[in-house]
Amino acid sequence: MKGRFSVRFFKRVITFTVLGIILALLVTVIIQALRIGSLKEGVLNGTAHAYAESQPMDYQKKYPELYVENQFEKLKAETKTVYLTFDDGPSKENTRKILDILEEYEIKATFFMVHNGNKVADEIIQRVIDEGHTIGIHTYSHDYEEVYQSVESYLDDFNKLWSNLKERFGYEAKIFRFPGGSINAYNLAVYDKIIPEMYRRGFLYYDWNASAEDAMDSGASKEQIVKAILREVRRNDRSIVLMHDSSYMGTTVEALPEIIETLKEEGYTFKALDETVKPVSFARL
Ligand SMILES: [Zn+2]
Repeated sequence: MKGRFSVRFFKRVITFTVLGIILALLVTVIIQALRIGSLKEGVLNGTAHAYAESQPMDYQKKYPELYVENQFEKLKAETKTVYLTFDDGPSKENTRKILDILEEYEIKATFFMVHNGNKVADEIIQRVIDEGHTIGIHTYSHDYEEVYQSVESYLDDFNKLWSNLKERFGYEAKIFRFPGGSINAYNLAVYDKIIPEMYRRGFLYYDWNASAEDAMDSGASKEQIVKAILREVRRNDRSIVLMHDSSYMGTTVEALPEIIETLKEEGYTFKALDETVKPVSFARL
């Protein structure tokens, strides 16, 4: 009798423990969702500053020049619009080819750049600006471990490229993209601090809802890229398309004319992102 009672007792203890853990997890998830939800509301109706001021941090004092004007309350979401975005450039192999294609089809696009300080990079940056495309910051180093160490290290890296573009090219970048997107395996501990700080400084970030899937180790063929992008764009009201402008992405360039021609025929309009466009964001912040 005593033995049976003990087994039953332990079973109950285990059941209650498991239930307790599940309940605790649920409560945590709900609290987090509510907090993120209210922060997003705050950002989009222009009270991001108030939120950040209510939690003063030392990093808010860094880089007093690193601010841009914003009008977050006026963001627009135009349907049947496609925003082509090219990450990781400028590359001396591909950026000029991409620019030639964009020029031929008379469309504007967005380049989320990293630092590539050679002479060709300077010429490319100038051409991107002259031809009316948008430049966004994609970090200076693109080194995940370094930039996602803390809010400070993110700001240090961001400011290097941002101030460089401003001082040397007179270009004030107002938008950015996180390496790996706004939530990734490297930034879980800091993304919910970096995002409000960047909003407070007036910057908007853009993730994507269509991907060329051209950043896989195995590489992607021209056909795979065309197929991946068309499939996702046709599913969306409006699309922010992730593509890569790095040296080894020749197939992305090859895929571009077919993507543009097909979507133009289907009635889509191509535009460059700017700070008036409502972002697509994974983090919901
Ligand atoms: Zn990247």
